[in-house]
Amino acid sequence: MELQRAHIEQLHSWLTERPMKIVTVSHTNPDGDAIGSSLAWAQVLRGMGHSVISIVPNRHPYFLNWMPHIKELVIFKQAAEQAREAIREADMIFCLDFNALSRLEILSDALAENNHARRILIDHHLSPEAGFDLLFSYPDSSSTSFLVYEIIEQMLGVEVITKEMAELLYVGMMTDTGNFAFSHLSPELFRAVAVLLERGIVIPDIYNNVYNAYTAGRARLFGYAINRKMELIHNGKVAYMSLKESEMRRFCFQQGDSEGFVNYPLTIKKVKMSAMFIEQHDFIRISLRSRGLVDVNLFARKYFNGGGHKNAAGGKSFDTIERTIERYIEAVEEFATEGGLG
Ligand code: 5GP
Ligand code: MN
Repeated sequence: MELQRAHIEQLHSWLTERPMKIVTVSHTNPDGDAIGSSLAWAQVLRGMGHSVISIVPNRHPYFLNWMPHIKELVIFKQAAEQAREAIREADMIFCLDFNALSRLEILSDALAENNHARRILIDHHLSPEAGFDLLFSYPDSSSTSFLVYEIIEQMLGVEVITKEMAELLYVGMMTDTGNFAFSHLSPELFRAVAVLLERGIVIPDIYNNVYNAYTAGRARLFGYAINRKMELIHNGKVAYMSLKESEMRRFCFQQGDSEGFVNYPLTIKKVKMSAMFIEQHDFIRISLRSRGLVDVNLFARKYFNGGGHKNAAGGKSFDTIERTIERYIEAVEEFATEGGLG
């Protein structure tokens, strides 16, 4: 993927002016790509002589605990003052793996306290919001980690990539592509993976660390969700599931345990679109997935105040879970009438 040359040159010129205080931020409920891209990019910036603090709004899932440098993450929910101070003092703020400051949720206000830092977006979601000084917005990139790889390659050369950076970047590439099974897979991506292999990453180890490291509770919750909670509507073409807080407690739910559940109904041949409703303290978090031309980014924007990618999006609802599901069923019918389901 060819990045805009002028953007690379601008970034390089800013980063070679003088040593700076830099902050990276990523989205709420940070996933493998958010964390992998943030920590790898932070290491690159440190290598260029900058001091860097990586901040996320809340904790990452426990199955990412093994990732190199993850202990350095400042988790806003646990260390708000430290995060606020780092943001206030920053000369430059990198926003990775999200397209709108509202996706930072509890961290958004803290970012508004700094008006002097240069803001740079590195992201692969559709429709980034205005207000950035420099934009690396590439919705055709399968992950932000791949985008970070491309920036490194085109700005500094791949020689600067250490084994640890390679592991971090691989986690993002692997998780955002569903282990290299979703859309936007390109020859360049696999060439990048080849370079990461040359840096010494061990792919089966990374796979096991991420995908074979759940608790027994998570395995049982998954079985429960599919067996007891999956509903098929619209002649079996559309699926949805929901989990209430009480149900999650029963299976000793930990942050990240429901990640990936929403994909499973798409293993049914007829299913073109799948939704997951997760009850949180103050709202319902919605995850949407689809196949082929069915555009859940559009659907999430229109009906649930959200967005994302064509085949993976999300949103929120401030109704009860029952009412949210009713609204979903109505929305699916309207969406189908308008040709959204093909
Ligand atoms: P997930 O279902 O994995 O939480 O999210 C799928 C995709 O949708 C991600 O790329 C994520 O950034 C996006 N997404 C999830 N929730 C929201 C939301 O509330 N607003 C927007 N704009 N995007 C979301
Ligand atoms: Mn991503």
